[in-house]
Amino acid sequence: MSSWFNRKEKGIVTPTDQKKETPDGLWYKCPECKTVATMVEHRRLLSTCGNCGYHDRIEAAEYFSFLFDGGRFEELDADMHSADPLHFVDTKAYPQRLVATEKSTGLRDAVRTAHGQLNGLGLVVAAMDFKFIGGSMGSVVGEKIARAIDYAREHRLPFLMISRSGGARMMEAGFSLMQMAKTSARLALLSEAGLPYISLLTDPTTGGVTASFAMLGDFNIAEPGALIGFAGPRVIKETIGKDLPKGFQSAEFVLEHGFLDFIVDRKDLKGRLHALLSMLQAGKGAETESATAG
Ligand SMILES: [Zn+2]
Repeated sequence: MSSWFNRKEKGIVTPTDQKKETPDGLWYKCPECKTVATMVEHRRLLSTCGNCGYHDRIEAAEYFSFLFDGGRFEELDADMHSADPLHFVDTKAYPQRLVATEKSTGLRDAVRTAHGQLNGLGLVVAAMDFKFIGGSMGSVVGEKIARAIDYAREHRLPFLMISRSGGARMMEAGFSLMQMAKTSARLALLSEAGLPYISLLTDPTTGGVTASFAMLGDFNIAEPGALIGFAGPRVIKETIGKDLPKGFQSAEFVLEHGFLDFIVDRKDLKGRLHALLSMLQAGKGAETESATAG
């Protein structure tokens, strides 16, 4: 009996790039629950899954587009580039790697900074781009964050940091580590000036970034399911030689252990930030009043 569905001809090989069930750009399949949605719907949900709530990694540009009113913002230090302080060579010389990464990503470095309005409230935002060398913190990242904090201080605006980073940029070694001290010092000045700093940790936030500015917020908040940690789970498991608790280093685990203030769904982020900033502003107003009344 012949089967209708058996391939009779041998040696038919479909090239991998033609095996996709759907054309690129039309459909999104959730890697967690495999639910399929149209790209239009996926974008409407800010790249989260409508079924299981999985948060896809998005870029700085996307955060800017939905956090700032009407997607309007003014970018700070948009053209700043990395130098090659150590003449670092791995598989490629570092300057070549930078040029290639700039070309493939269309980005200048792993962070973008901007100011604009969030539901009418002025705000400075620094958001990291993971696809630029793993969102690693080199001199440009540190310098841009430091300048964005300075801008917030000069204009009396709150500061929001959106972290997504593998940590320090090894090609810049010590220069990279210096950025931790520099950004932390600037944040201390912001705090002295009485201006709020909110740190949003997204997937993944690890290494030197977790050890410095990402955990220094007046509020440290995270997206659901984000990996948060100093070293990756595999490295820790190998080091301590023990199995790690389930969900170790997920945002939910970190929250449960008291290191986060709350977890926020990306779709609620703008509203929650507005509520938080309004509350902080009102608090500040009351403080000033009682100070003048006394
Ligand atoms: Zn899903």
